[in-house]
Amino acid sequence: MIELNDFDKEEAYQLLRQLVAIRSYPGEEAAAQQACAAWLAQYNIASTMQPTRNGQPNVIARIENGPGPTLMLNGHMDTVLRAEGWLHDPWQGWREGDIFYGLGAADMKCGVAANMLVARTLAHNKQAWRGTLIFTSVTDEEAYSHGARALVDGTPNGITADACLVSEPLSNGGAIGAAGKMLVQVDVTGKAAHGFLPWQGINAGIEAARFAAGVCNAVPELKHPQVPSSQTVLSIHAGSEQYVITLPEKARVLLTRQIVPGETREAVLGKMQAFANSLQSPAQFAFSNPDPYYAPWAFDEPNHALTQAFQAAYQAEYGNAPNLHYMLGISDANVFRGEAGIPSIVHGPHGDNFHQCQEWVDLASIPAFCRVALGVALRFLQ
Ligand SMILES: [Zn+2]
Repeated sequence: MIELNDFDKEEAYQLLRQLVAIRSYPGEEAAAQQACAAWLAQYNIASTMQPTRNGQPNVIARIENGPGPTLMLNGHMDTVLRAEGWLHDPWQGWREGDIFYGLGAADMKCGVAANMLVARTLAHNKQAWRGTLIFTSVTDEEAYSHGARALVDGTPNGITADACLVSEPLSNGGAIGAAGKMLVQVDVTGKAAHGFLPWQGINAGIEAARFAAGVCNAVPELKHPQVPSSQTVLSIHAGSEQYVITLPEKARVLLTRQIVPGETREAVLGKMQAFANSLQSPAQFAFSNPDPYYAPWAFDEPNHALTQAFQAAYQAEYGNAPNLHYMLGISDANVFRGEAGIPSIVHGPHGDNFHQCQEWVDLASIPAFCRVALGVALRFLQ
């Protein structure tokens, strides 16, 4: 019998350790996902493996409990690549008191393990709620979010949900929005000529540099009261690698820009095109927007049932109201809310050193987060 609110730190630790031990860089999540599905099956929770564009499967477990709302608990199984400087094997990990070190321990196998425990509790206490709980463990969040996109794209086995809790290791309050990001590629075409006779050609390198030097001032970031954003030129390439006295005919500028809620990539590209036109350059400028692209997201709705369920569950666990804020980084909530429109909040266990060596999670924060997630589910699924 699995009691409501009976979350055990040592069980969470064992489960987390098992997931951390299976290397799961983007593009090689399958083994860890199979371990997740096998654990669920042990508790009679059926799941499906959904193919995604990076060749690795999402795990989706739908726990249906009659008519009612649908809540998704989401996490990603992939980790970033191993950084230099780990003191011990990052997949074996090690424990000091309640601190567990390991690659993906915080970002975010702790959140996936917690969601597994919460899903098990809900599956075995159907008298306490109604509707549908969807547990999802996705691939590729640290790269292109192919996992999250497969979930909401609808083919095959795509899902819809009334609300989503993403258990990234953001323990202090809840995130209700973030900037998105886009890459802008500018291909500049001039005209080749002998390098001693530059007036006979059009130097694509110089024209690209004129654009690169002015674009950030000419097309400033859209200001949002809560969401900081920035942009910068990442690279400028012109001419050939090999030494030749030829005017560069082609050049390419790559620029990254964070986009805030209310801004679209079409608008950004349009303004940059207008700036290029204003240069009255003899060269041609062609704009494109290669992957990865993430829409900005915002879920600033105090009266929504998800917000209220989260506030009440958070208050009950931590004794104070959550600070609902806009987060700095990109997450799959950019896909769920920014692209698919699903009301989403990001909140999870407590850890740090993401994307560096000695990444850690506070094991005691895992059962605490489980109680919050369960509290959200029991309030929202009514
Ligand atoms: Zn993450």
